Amino acid sequence: MKLFDDAPGISPRGTWRNWAGNYRRQPAAVVRPETVSGVSEALQDAARMHRGFKVVGGSHSFTDIAATDGVVASLDALSGLVSADRETGLATFRAGTRLRDIAGLLQPYGLALPNMGDIDHQSLAGAVSTSTHGTGLEYTGFGGAVRAFTIVLADGEVRHCSADENPGLFQAGRVGLGAVGVIVEVTLQCVPRFLLSAVEQPEPLEDVLSGFTERCEQSDHFEFYWFPGTRVALTKTNTRLPGDGQRSPVTTARRLVDDELLGNGLFSLTCQVGARFNGVVPGVNALATRLVSKRTYTDESHAVFVSPRRVRFREMEYALPFEEAEEALRKVVDAANAFGESVSFPIEVRSAAADDVWMSTANGRRSVYIAVHRYHREPHAEYFEAIERIFWEHGGRPHWGKLHTLDAARLRGLYPHFDDFLAVREEVDPQRRFLNPYLRRVLGA
Ligand SMILES: Cc1cc2nc3c(=O)[nH]c(=O)nc-3n(C[C@H](O)[C@H](O)[C@H](O)COP(=O)(O)OP(=O)(O)OC[C@H]3O[C@@H](n4cnc5c(N)ncnc54)[C@H](O)[C@@H]3O)c2cc1C
Repeated sequence: MKLFDDAPGISPRGTWRNWAGNYRRQPAAVVRPETVSGVSEALQDAARMHRGFKVVGGSHSFTDIAATDGVVASLDALSGLVSADRETGLATFRAGTRLRDIAGLLQPYGLALPNMGDIDHQSLAGAVSTSTHGTGLEYTGFGGAVRAFTIVLADGEVRHCSADENPGLFQAGRVGLGAVGVIVEVTLQCVPRFLLSAVEQPEPLEDVLSGFTERCEQSDHFEFYWFPGTRVALTKTNTRLPGDGQRSPVTTARRLVDDELLGNGLFSLTCQVGARFNGVVPGVNALATRLVSKRTYTDESHAVFVSPRRVRFREMEYALPFEEAEEALRKVVDAANAFGESVSFPIEVRSAAADDVWMSTANGRRSVYIAVHRYHREPHAEYFEAIERIFWEHGGRPHWGKLHTLDAARLRGLYPHFDDFLAVREEVDPQRRFLNPYLRRVLGA
């Protein structure tokens, strides 16, 4: 049973591939700048050679948003903390910093990220650029926490951006899809370090669906998973506690059984068997949900937000208006159940606060995020298409880093500032140095 796949990113031979393994490229050149002026020179070189230019962060997007046949840049060497202020909570990081390193960097200042998604392998700039989010109706995604950034434009010019300085570029770059420049530093609004008390338990799906809105409104961070074909949802409710409280982490043995054996090991086996013999999946899904029992623990926020994800999958996720959550979820449950017998991966449901970031999936509206997954060896298109139609009925906006089929014509109607974004791009990248097939589809030529 193979659990650990080879790493995503740029191989020693200069081939790039993403985490899910559905996109690969052989770029013309790989650069690894260590300074801001190194980024600027690399962009000027690419311009002289008339080549496209893309930065890859953690290569954890399911789409080809980071793919290029031109010059690919890794900012892994441009990482770490630049400054942090305990009083204001503002912390500036180099853009290639991986999310997994941030807790340690902020620890001496008594600060933490306000919210996180369910993994931490992404680069900070990659998470910002695709509207990456966690769960919690009071908390925005990463883009909403950005207070300033420094960006290198296609011609090599360096600009600092905030609400007061280059405000248009600030709005565009807070979720910039890698289309407006190379971000080299990001200033985030952080919060005092805190603990999270987690309650994870199986509950009847019907109760979770009918109580979803209320539970999101009453908890700091509520989310649930549901395996198609079962009547049980696995809920996770996290409550924020002061950082100096008592920790009671999951024991190593329990973590090994729950996260590694059940969460990844049994799961991997289900997926591998399910990929060959469809009929066994519902039984194994039901067994998996029965085996998961209630657990409660309290730990540092980053340790609770993040879980291991070792089984490779493909994912589509849309942000829908929060008020439509229950109606949309019931349709998704029916569609997934009707779809058939072989869906071995759960549906994940989260929420987020509204923000004012132009290309944020939660721009101007509180959102419910519904994500569907499929094991990477199984075809996903038919299943995703069936669910995507429901997302469209509810004005859903696709996650920029996850699979979807929308194009610029459809996306323009979903984002009030779509044309403002394009106007900024026209100003800062008239030659379309950062364009690639994905951006051509979602932003237009
Ligand atoms: C297992 C798994 C779990 C996930 N969980 C979540 C989750 O909980 N919540 C969620 O919202 N998403 C989640 N995602 C999606 C993921 O957060 C996003 O796709 C994110 O963009 C990945 O960050 P990255 O550093 O890997 O970026 P990449 O995929 O490498 O790049 C994404 C985009 O950012 C651009 N970019 C990167 N660096 C820069 C820079 N310095 N300047 C300008 N542009 C830049 C790239 O050019 C590209 O356009 C998950 C993905 C996986 C594989």
